[in-house]
Amino acid sequence: MNGPVTERPAILSLSAKALEEWLAEHGAPAYRRKQVWGWMARGAASFDEMRDIPKPLRTDLDREFRITSLRQVAVSQADSGLTTKTLYELDGGHSVESVVMRYADRSTLCISSQAGCPIGCPFCATGKFPFGRNLKAHEIVEQALDAARMLPAEGRRLSHVVFMGMGEPMANYQAVVESVRRISDVDLLGISPRRIVVSTSGLIPRIAQLGDEKLAVTLAISLHAARDDLRDVLVPINRKYPVAELVASAQAYGVKTGRRVSYEWVLLAGVNDTERDARELGVLLRGKLAHVNLIPFNPVEDTPYEAPDRASVRRFKELVQAEGLNVTVRDTRGRDADAACGQLHERVMRERQTVTAS
Ligand code: SAH
Ligand code: SF4
Repeated sequence: MNGPVTERPAILSLSAKALEEWLAEHGAPAYRRKQVWGWMARGAASFDEMRDIPKPLRTDLDREFRITSLRQVAVSQADSGLTTKTLYELDGGHSVESVVMRYADRSTLCISSQAGCPIGCPFCATGKFPFGRNLKAHEIVEQALDAARMLPAEGRRLSHVVFMGMGEPMANYQAVVESVRRISDVDLLGISPRRIVVSTSGLIPRIAQLGDEKLAVTLAISLHAARDDLRDVLVPINRKYPVAELVASAQAYGVKTGRRVSYEWVLLAGVNDTERDARELGVLLRGKLAHVNLIPFNPVEDTPYEAPDRASVRRFKELVQAEGLNVTVRDTRGRDADAACGQLHERVMRERQTVTAS
C-alpha cells in the first residue's frame, strides 16, 4: 500500500541555522542563506530565478524544498482594486485568508495566525467554523511574502502587517512571535515591529510574555465592551480574563515597550453603542496612554447583530471623545466584496466556488 505523499518542506520551515547547515552539507557557504532569503523577500516565485546562486545549488534546492507551502485558491478584489483578499489552502487542507489594503502612504497586510479560531466571538465570521489548527511560523511569513511579491509591480512595498485575520494570535504564541521575528528580520522583509500590530481578544498571560520578548510590536486589544457581563458574551474569553485585569496587563505592556496600546471596538447597533457604553469606556481608559479604534460591524450572516448607521457611529465617537479619550473610526475596507478578514473564507466555504484573479 502506498503511504501518504509527503510534500517537500517549504524553504522557510527551516530556521536560518538549519538552512545554513543544509547548505554546508551541500558544499555551499553560509552566506547563500542570506541570498536565498533576499530573493524570497524580493518575491522570487522559483529557486531558478535566484541568479546569483550557482545553478547546481538551485537544482538541489528545488529538489528538496518548495518556495512556499501556500496554494492560492481564491482571490477577490474590492474598493476599486485597493483591497485584495486571497484565500490560501494549507498543507493538510485547511484554508486561511489574508487581505492587502492599499493606502496613499502605506500598504498594509492583514494576516491570519490560525485556521479558524477557538475563541468563538458571536459576531465574527471566523469563530463560526470549527477550529482547524494553528499555523506554523513559516505559513504566517509566507502570507507576508506573497503580498510582498504582489506589490512591487504596482510601485508599492509592503509597509505594515496586522494580525487581524483569522485566528487568535496569542493562542498560537510561539509561531506568531517567531513569524514577527522573521517578518522584521532585515535579511527577510525588514518591516519594523512598530509597523506590526498584534490584535488579541485578551489572553493575559501571553500579553505579559509578549512584553518580555523585546519585540515592541504594537498591541491591539479587542475590547468591544467595558463591562464584564456584556464582554462575557461578545468575547467569551472574558469569563477567564476579565476586562479590568486585561486593561491593566495591556497598559503594563504599553509602559514596558513605550508603545501606545490600541483598543478595538466593533460597533454593534443597540448592543455596545449606547451612552452607557461610552461612559464605561471612559472610566476604564481615562488618563491612560491608549487609542480607541471604532470598527462599524461588518454584517455576518446568521448572527443576531446589525451594523450601526452613520449617524450613530458619529454620535458614539463624540461620546467617547467627550470622555477625554483618543478615538478614530476605522474605515471599513472591503465591505463591497467579502468584507473583513474571515469573510472570504466564509463565502468560499458557503458556496464552494472558486474565483480566480484576472
Ligand atoms: N482574534 C484577534 C485578531 C483577529 S480579529 C482578535 O479578536 O483581536 C481582528 C479584529 O476584527 C478584532 O478586533 C475583531 O473583533 C474584529 N472583527 C471580527 N469580526 C468582525 C466583523 N464582522 N466586523 C467588524 N470587525 C470584526
Ligand atoms: Fe477569534 Fe478574533 Fe474572531 Fe473572536 S474576533 S472569534 S478572537 S478571530
